[in-house]
Amino acid sequence: QAKKEGRNTYHYYDKKLEKASDDKFKLLQLLRPAFNGAQFKLYYQPMVNLSNGEITTVEALLRWPQPDGTMIGPDQFIPLAESSGLINELGRWVLQQACIGCAQQRRLGYTNLRVAVNLSVMQFKDGHLQDTVKSALRDAGLPPEALELELTESLLIDETEQIQKQLKALTAIGITIAIDDFGTGYSNLGYLRNFNATTLKIDRSFITSLCVAKHDESLVKAIISMAASLGLKTVAEGIEDEATLNKLVALGCDIGQGYYWSKPVPENVLSELLSNHQQLSSSAL
Ligand code: C2E
Ligand code: MG
Ligand code: MG
Ligand code: MG
Repeated sequence: QAKKEGRNTYHYYDKKLEKASDDKFKLLQLLRPAFNGAQFKLYYQPMVNLSNGEITTVEALLRWPQPDGTMIGPDQFIPLAESSGLINELGRWVLQQACIGCAQQRRLGYTNLRVAVNLSVMQFKDGHLQDTVKSALRDAGLPPEALELELTESLLIDETEQIQKQLKALTAIGITIAIDDFGTGYSNLGYLRNFNATTLKIDRSFITSLCVAKHDESLVKAIISMAASLGLKTVAEGIEDEATLNKLVALGCDIGQGYYWSKPVPENVLSELLSNHQQLSSSAL
């Protein structure tokens, strides 16, 4: 009996695994035609200066809308784009669109807006990143100071020298670097200086439980004070409620991002959001 059950169990998991890799394979095959057919959309999520409530930057976040109205998120397809080699073209498109989108908002009156773009480690390996970034800025008419590149910690651990060189060249023209999902990687603080980073984005996992878990509060407190002493700005991602916001303000965090203000939204909604926001901030004066 036990033997039979064991075999069935094995069979069951085997089928599940098969199904998962089957779904992945289907998605993988749909990726290239989706890109060629311009099916990807760029959404934007505001980041707010916690000392004056201003929207300083918007983060560009990729979306893949499906025919049935649902949306596939980047956590599902970015790894596939990386393994299939599409990530370089997709990443270039994101940079171009994000620069155009930000330049557009600046022309509409939000003159100091900046845009943050997530980069994959693969984009440092093809040797064209600097050119890609510079031509995206030039074509959009966006000054380099308006662009922030978000890199994850694990990316910075890999192949340090090659990446370091490229980042130096980019920061030399005025682009800034933010370390994304900070606290989840190796957190070797020594490397922070080598990458000319200006900003640490504290991972959402620490923010979510900030008001309930005592050790998360100590951790966030330590990150913020360490960042301050290194001259780095801090962003808290994933702020969803006022209690968390208040706690972060009390801890001296500089910038916030999260559903409390807005989910990532398409460009037309961002325009509305920014123009309402500007009215609000000028009427408050
Ligand atoms: P990330 O860069 O850390 O982006 C923040 C993620 O947290 C986004 O998920 C955002 O929608 C989500 N988020 C923000 N505020 C809240 C909140 O208050 N509550 C909750 N529950 N979630 C919040 P998203 O858009 O699904 O993106 C996931 C990840 O995919 C990003 O994490 C980023 O690493 C990657 N990604 C997105 N767009 C791109 C891209 O253009 N290129 C590359 N290479 N990666 C991208
Ligand atoms: Mg990010
Ligand atoms: Mg993040
Ligand atoms: Mg993330």
